[in-house]
Amino acid sequence: MNRRDFVGTVVGGIGLVKLGAGAAFCLDVEDTASHAVGQGAWIKNGLIDAGGSHETYLFVVRRGGQRVDAREIGVHEQSEEVIRKLKDQGVEVFHTHLYKSFGMAAEKAEMEDTVRTAATVHRLGMKIDTYIQWDSMMYETFFVEEPRAKDWIQCDASGQPVMLEYGYQQSFRYLPCFSNQEFIDYLKKVVRFAVSEVKTDFIHFDNFTLSAEPNSCHCGACKTGFRQRLRIKYSADERKSRFGFENVDYVNPPRWNGTNRPEKMKVITDPVFQEWIDYRCQTMADALRQMAELIRLLNPEVVIEINYGGIVGYNSPWIRGTDPARLLGYTQVFWDESDSKPEFTADGRLLSAIRTYKMARTYRNIVLTYISVSETAIAECLAFNQTIGFAGVSPLPANVVKYIGFYRKQRELYVEAEDLAPVAVLRSYASMTYSNASAGLSAILVEQALIQAKIPFRLITDEHLAGLSSATCKVLILPNVECLSDEQVQTIERYVAAGGGLVATEDSGLYDAWRRIRVEPGLTNLLKGQTQMHGSNSKNVALAAESQPQRRELGSGRTVYIPAIDFDGPLPPDQPYFTLGTEFWKRPKNWQELVNAIFWAAGEKLPVSVVAPDFVAMNLLEQTAKRRHIIHLVNYDLERNPSVVNISIRCTTPEGKPVTGVRFYAPDTDDGQRIDFRMEGSEAVFTAPRLHAYGVVTVNW
Ligand SMILES: [Zn+2]
Repeated sequence: MNRRDFVGTVVGGIGLVKLGAGAAFCLDVEDTASHAVGQGAWIKNGLIDAGGSHETYLFVVRRGGQRVDAREIGVHEQSEEVIRKLKDQGVEVFHTHLYKSFGMAAEKAEMEDTVRTAATVHRLGMKIDTYIQWDSMMYETFFVEEPRAKDWIQCDASGQPVMLEYGYQQSFRYLPCFSNQEFIDYLKKVVRFAVSEVKTDFIHFDNFTLSAEPNSCHCGACKTGFRQRLRIKYSADERKSRFGFENVDYVNPPRWNGTNRPEKMKVITDPVFQEWIDYRCQTMADALRQMAELIRLLNPEVVIEINYGGIVGYNSPWIRGTDPARLLGYTQVFWDESDSKPEFTADGRLLSAIRTYKMARTYRNIVLTYISVSETAIAECLAFNQTIGFAGVSPLPANVVKYIGFYRKQRELYVEAEDLAPVAVLRSYASMTYSNASAGLSAILVEQALIQAKIPFRLITDEHLAGLSSATCKVLILPNVECLSDEQVQTIERYVAAGGGLVATEDSGLYDAWRRIRVEPGLTNLLKGQTQMHGSNSKNVALAAESQPQRRELGSGRTVYIPAIDFDGPLPPDQPYFTLGTEFWKRPKNWQELVNAIFWAAGEKLPVSVVAPDFVAMNLLEQTAKRRHIIHLVNYDLERNPSVVNISIRCTTPEGKPVTGVRFYAPDTDDGQRIDFRMEGSEAVFTAPRLHAYGVVTVNW
């Protein structure tokens, strides 16, 4: 099986190509079609988006519970008065409704309203962001317009329509099936209207998700599509290896009963289940690709955004049919609708959206989050998203307006800044999808240790492994990456042989990409001290004396094997589908061991060191043309610690070039205060001024 099969096949290379912009990522640019390159290029200058409501009046009425003057409210939300007010507050993109999935006939009048609104928005020198519902079909009106649509809906194993999993009282919403080309063709008509009639600048596809088992679609198109994919993806011999037989004519999506509940399945080893997950993820990616190709054809300036959810602890390939690695090559923006506020909790958990932001940066995407929930959320967004994203709904809160002002004034600190992160954490599709409770948890814990230790890191997915260069990626971390293909093992061996540092934990490499148990540990040539199937998936077992990290030098490369990543305290109870909510987002007990391993494996000093309390997070970027490093500092414990002093920072420059100046920017003192520094060898050493919620340090050379 080649790597392409491993990552899910037919990805089309679009994501890889887009990464070509990312010289700082040092990922090889390889592969094929390039139609995502440059799509919506204006977004490179950042995004300040706000609305306006995205709900149509038709939906508000059908949902019920509205105010009696809902119509007037809706008209006001699209009015020039609201748009002008947002513009005056610094908003550059106006978000509004276009299509909620009642069918174009039922929504025609309000879609025409949006055409007029777009003209106003453009006349005022702004851009428009239009809402299109992805995963709904309001059948009461839709079937009137398009009777064939009765065959386009998702239905469960009993043939009943699959329903929304939230909201109650919305049984008027069926879900369309993305294996059904007739439905996709219908949705293209909506997209065409958005680009050609509305002249939209930005398409927001909402509800970009499928439902968790047992609510996956079992319609005819899905069954035949699934079987066909197995025939195309694998040769007859490979099908025999995969399933034990060649003929897949009667293979079905998974079924469940009262004693076999999908939400209690901890490890997914059934090959058909694994392939079904892959099929669902690929179906969503393929449907998005079709939209992206159409949009590209109609107008390459239109930004494409999906609300797929970000990294919030879900096993999203399994329960939502979304694999970010297959989607984010087609998008420039995505939503993370998590409602957990960034904060530092009393038990020492730094809760953040940093993972989501980092995944977005890897794929050159911008994230939309609810930044208006707190000043820390806005600060975090600027620090890790490098722009505002979604400012909220009019009227905007004062804090948001203040930060928009700061961002617009200091925009050159953000535009064309590249993340500088010599440490990479692999989020392995197979490992995390088939064993979220174990591999997923280790990833969360390792990332948490890095965040709280203020180590500059990036998140990568399987496709990036082959492009890692030991010249820029000093340490690759495999957090209990149980499943590695033979090809991935060889890639990692080459990386270490070229001088790379590897930190692997727990059961990394003990399984292949189908989660078959390897006879010999996959990383046996690299790691010292890993035994086959040591079986310790439990996070709350104290480290035994013999389970200390094991270091190994291999030529110019270095490896560390860490036998356990220990959850600090009792492990929270299992959640349905083994979702890893914020109760799991805790720095592991042996975090210092992990950090020491990273420092040693790096073989040289990391480019920045920030000594600050645990509730302060850091992000490091570089603007090569402006010859400076940029260090962003965020305070996650603003209420208890509104003023952090004596943050001591050491920062190296490329090739030890002498530092010419250090400055500090913050929303309250935003003109760039000069900071004294001294050189110690190739490092500039200085103390940041008092930090409130957010500060930016520039180190020029
Ligand atoms: Zn279907």
